[in-house]
Amino acid sequence: MKRFRIRRLSLKGKLTVLSAGAIFITYFVFTFLQYHIVKQWLLNEEEKTMEQTVAEIETYYAEKRNVSWEDIRRSRSFLEKLNERYQLIRVTDHDGNVVVSVSNGAAVSLLPGGVPDKLKMDEHFVNNERFLLLRQPLHIGNLRGTIEIARRLTKFQQVTNTLFAIMTVIGVVAMAASALAGRLVAQSFIRPLKTLAQTMAAIKNNGLKQRIDVPSARDEIAELMLMFNNMMDDIERSFAMQRQFVEDASHELRTPLAILQGHLSLLQRWGKHNRDILEESLEAATKEAERLKRLVLELLDLSRAEAITVPKEVTPVNAVAAIGQVVENFRVLHPDFEFIVDRPERAPARVAIAKHHFEQLLFILLDNAVKYSQHVKKIALSLREEGSFVTVAVRDYGIGIPQEELQNVFLRFYRVDKARSREQGGAGLGLSIAKEMIDKYGGHIMMESEVGRGTTVKLAIPKAE
Ligand code: ADP
Repeated sequence: MKRFRIRRLSLKGKLTVLSAGAIFITYFVFTFLQYHIVKQWLLNEEEKTMEQTVAEIETYYAEKRNVSWEDIRRSRSFLEKLNERYQLIRVTDHDGNVVVSVSNGAAVSLLPGGVPDKLKMDEHFVNNERFLLLRQPLHIGNLRGTIEIARRLTKFQQVTNTLFAIMTVIGVVAMAASALAGRLVAQSFIRPLKTLAQTMAAIKNNGLKQRIDVPSARDEIAELMLMFNNMMDDIERSFAMQRQFVEDASHELRTPLAILQGHLSLLQRWGKHNRDILEESLEAATKEAERLKRLVLELLDLSRAEAITVPKEVTPVNAVAAIGQVVENFRVLHPDFEFIVDRPERAPARVAIAKHHFEQLLFILLDNAVKYSQHVKKIALSLREEGSFVTVAVRDYGIGIPQEELQNVFLRFYRVDKARSREQGGAGLGLSIAKEMIDKYGGHIMMESEVGRGTTVKLAIPKAE
């Protein structure tokens, strides 16, 4: 039942109850122990005093020569002097008859207990009052008797009662203080969480720009806030990228669609009667439709490349064979080009990548090499093993890329020479697809180029085991 209730409390409530409880229990155990230790110590002190007294009495009697019961009876004044408040001292003979008895505010009728064989200390309750009773055998010369000291624990009781009262009062104050402290502890824990929740609500209402002001303390909650801010940065960036991508894609789609529309209306108006216009427009429209189709296919490839999940066990691909096949296709498609393949003598290199992805990568690089070559129609491929990677370099002797543009060519829709590239049918997606793909397999893509002299694109693909 109790557990159920605690579970239903808010986090603040839980923290308050738990920390107040912990503080209070600690206090309670500590004072309880303290009270009992002090009490025991006081009792020991009382006993010690009594033992000292009895020792003094014994020495006093022992110092007398041939001590008799009469001497003992006459020692009253000594005993009175020795006695303390709330204490009774008496000496009894062997039969339990009282020889001498002095009392200072501790009149009590003690039962004759016979002669004990050694010192005995007992606790008694007489008339609801606590007494310590000490019995010590008296053994001097021929005399056999008992020295008895009864001590009323009035002072001890007073001290312990006062101590108990003080501790109870402090306990109540401590309970209130621990409840307050618990509340404060809870509040200081909850405050940053509340800020977090408020920021989340603000993000929901006002957009992704909002961030949390992270406090300077470097604790776990501050870490959580930092992580949240970083996550929001990532989300905002990826949202912006998405938006940019959609804008770029629509822009790319708009141009061929506008051209198509232009030719169709031209055909509608004039083409029915003018054969030349009919021919020309149909050809142009087909070309644009072709470009549109290619663009859509490339968009699809990009989205597929983004979604690639590499399985743990990839069927290794024989790189030499795959390159040979793709190059063969290109030879058929571009008979005016010379393709040179330089591969190692040693055992064929095997790469850890899906076969169709490897072929697609080769296709993108060879397609670019062909597209951006002008006079020297030669393309050289080389295959090497470098550490845990197999590298495939595709070199062309074409127009090249200016140094400052090299880092941009992997961006989506990026074309170095906008007009020329469009002529060639490129939308600026090929290299971004390649990069997306190779990143997923844990490989790299690098590019070197010199304007007018040609370009080398190098793929590093993880070697298969
Ligand atoms: P595209 O489909 O336009 O070729 P890519 O992403 O494949 O798109 O390439 C981006 C740009 O990089 C191209 O528009 C082109 O300007 C440049 N580029 C790529 N490969 C080469 C190359 N082998 N030689 C010269 N320029 C290249």
